[in-house]
Formats: sequence, C-alpha cells, structure tokens
Amino acid sequence: MDQTDIAKKISAQILNGETAPWNAEAAALEAGLQPPEHLVAGTLARRLFLEAKSGIKLNHLVMPDKPYSIEYRCPRDGSHWILAADDAFTRCGMCDTPLEPRVAGKTSYLPLVNNYIGGHEDHFSYAGEVTVQGEVNKTFQNILCYGPGVGHLGISVGCFQLNKYGPIEIKVADWGRAARNLAFVFDTESERGKARKLIKDHLERIIELMTENFLKPFAGEVYNVDFLDKQHHGDRIMHCCFYTRFGEYRGHGCTSKAVGGAKNYIDDLFKEHNIACRVSVIGMGRDGDLKPSPRNRRGRYVSARQRIPIKEYEKNIGRPIDDFLSYLELDRQGVLEETGWPAYTGMGGEIIPAFYRTMKNNPRPYLVSSLQKVYVETRGDDLLFGVELPNLEVGFPSGPEGIVPPLSREVAKVCGIESSKDFAAACAAITLAGEFNFATLHIKEKLYTGR
Ligand SMILES: [Zn+2]
Repeated sequence: MDQTDIAKKISAQILNGETAPWNAEAAALEAGLQPPEHLVAGTLARRLFLEAKSGIKLNHLVMPDKPYSIEYRCPRDGSHWILAADDAFTRCGMCDTPLEPRVAGKTSYLPLVNNYIGGHEDHFSYAGEVTVQGEVNKTFQNILCYGPGVGHLGISVGCFQLNKYGPIEIKVADWGRAARNLAFVFDTESERGKARKLIKDHLERIIELMTENFLKPFAGEVYNVDFLDKQHHGDRIMHCCFYTRFGEYRGHGCTSKAVGGAKNYIDDLFKEHNIACRVSVIGMGRDGDLKPSPRNRRGRYVSARQRIPIKEYEKNIGRPIDDFLSYLELDRQGVLEETGWPAYTGMGGEIIPAFYRTMKNNPRPYLVSSLQKVYVETRGDDLLFGVELPNLEVGFPSGPEGIVPPLSREVAKVCGIESSKDFAAACAAITLAGEFNFATLHIKEKLYTGR
C-alpha cells in the first residue's frame, strides 16, 4: 500500500473510532511507512477524516509537500533549531553557520505541531470535538493554531471527559458591546453643569444621527450613555461614554466614528451656547479600549459550565473533592493577589489566543477577549466546573477593520461555526475543556511530574 492508501485506511479507522486522531502517525508506522512518510500519511489521514466528517473539501487549508519539521544544531554555538522541512535556509540564525543534524549523521523528523492538519507558518491542528447545549446547541470540531505543546491533546481529552456527562451548558449574551468615551475639561463646576444639561437636552438627536450615519449598516444601536465627573487640581472633567451593541458585528470601528460624529455635534453646541470648554477629546482611558480588565466595556459575555457527580469526579482524581477545592482556591488567590483582578488565566491565556489565530475574525488584537474566570462550586451531590469569558469580542461577518481570510472562513465552516454566538460558544467550551483537563491533571499531580 502506498502513502495515500494507508492514509485513507487510517482515516476510516479514525471515523469509526478504532484509532484516535493523534495516533494517526503511529498507525502509519505500524502499516510499514518509514519516517518522514509516516508524518505525511498521519496528516493526510486527519484531513480526510475531517473532510468526511464535515462534508467540506479543504481547499485553502493546504498541506505542504513536507508537512513536518527537522531538528538541527549549530556546530559553532550549540543552539538547537527545529525548522519546517520546507525551510531552505538551514543556517544558524545567530551566527550564520550551516546547521547539522541534531544527532550526528541522523535526521530527526518531528510533526510541525501535534495533530497537524495543514497551513504554512500558522500550523492548524485538530483538537477533537465538543458538544454544547443551552443558548447554542451544536457539536463543534475543534481546530486551533497552537504552538508545538500538547495543548490540543489536552483540549481533546478535556472535551471528551466533559461530554461524558452530556453537552456542556452555554450561556451567551445576545449582544456584543462596544464603547467610546468623550472627555471635556472646564475651569468651573457651573460651566460643566451647563454643558452636561446641554448634551442631555440634545441626546436624542445625537443618538439618532450616530445610528443613521454609522451604526445602522452593522445593525447596531446605542443602548446607554453615562456621565462621570472627575477633578484633577483645577481641571473639572466630564466624561461622557457612549455604549453600543451589535448582534453579529464587532462594532468597534463604527462606534468610534459614530462617537467622533457626536463629538463634532457637541463641540458645535458648546460654541453656539458659549460654553467655555477648554479641552474636548476622545478620552479612551475610560472606554475600555484594549485594557485587560474583567469589567471591560467591550465584547460579549459567554459562559460554559458542566455538572459532574462528585462521587464520579472523586473516583477520577483518586482523592476527596475538598482537595480539589483547596487547589482551585489557592490558584484563584494566587492570580487575584498577583494581578489585582479575580480573573483566572491559566490554560485560557493560551487557548483563547490560539482560537483567534485560527479564526482570524476581528479583532486581531484579542487581548481583552482572553480574560477568563474559572470557578468551581459544589451543589448537592454535584461539582460545577465553569468558565466565564466576560468580554469576548468578535465580528463574525467582518467589519471595517479588515477581511476574514478564505482559509479561516473554510476552517470555521469545518468547525461548524456560523455566527458570533457560535464563535463565543465554541471558544468558551474549549477553554473550559482545557482548564478542566489541566486542573484534573494538577490535582492528580500528573502534570510535569512524569507520573
Ligand atoms: Zn550558531
């Protein structure tokens, strides 16, 4: 049998559950292929499996001719290089010396990443599937761009373990939010008071113009405007923050423009009514623009939670549930005391960025989206294990910030992601699964210990 025949056979085995996706390379070796051909067949097998499962042919997510990496060392400074096999520049990046095989006389081939399925430079990998229910009801295939660690295996295992107790429960906000803040400085409080009254008197018209000119194309609306007085020495400051919301779009760009339009309108009002406003600016410091905070005013709330009988989980971890609660609390306190906010960022800090790198929807800077809170509770005979992502930002059908590339659209389709809510649900579910697997391994003292 040649490489392709073997890949087809392994793909069929993955489909009927005989072979785990991450064992495709091992199965290819068993079938008689030699390195690096087993890495080609393993990658191909997972691609065929995903195509069969989703009914979608992979056109944009290409597989390189040599879908593996090679280990080298620099004979001059001893540095270690793992390079893609299609990298023709096989010299040390630091001293330009030609690299040699890491083990003298022997080429060692490695996968580009575990469970690799395609892509140049961004290496996409398969991380199992997950079923959710509640405000989104679906089974997603998980595809992630990740580093070469075992993360995707952890997510696969976590999803499988959690789904043993049924679908993961999802709650997701109807709207994604955006916010932009205007700030004004006055020399007296009475002038500030007049200014606020003037804005409030014209607010209806201002919102009408913002909606008509900027928000309507994205089905967005202003849902709140708040005022906040601050003072810095003689500066009497007035903040005026506009909050918008959107069903599918991220809405950040059009919100900025809409609030810019509001600023022009307000500046004209001040002139017309002789309001002595010394400074009128977009005051981004108070609108939550790219500041990591769980009370960020951007994005969409999404929560994923699973209920597990305590008795069964105690059997899994081989110790009392109180030990597990102690572990989660010491970690929660650790994060709170180190960072000053009660958001726990463990695996999520890697999984969520990997998800955004895969989907390439807006926003590309996904910092605020990567915040998460992990929690556990016992309720009756059950353990509740949950994760909340308070500000997950996504514009699923794109927006003024840029395109969603064809490769990413294809991958989203294979995953089964068809809306912003799907995007949020899939992201929260795999974050929960990764954290669950991580936490379970830690309390079993199995992670990094080699036990
Ligand atoms: Zn070197």
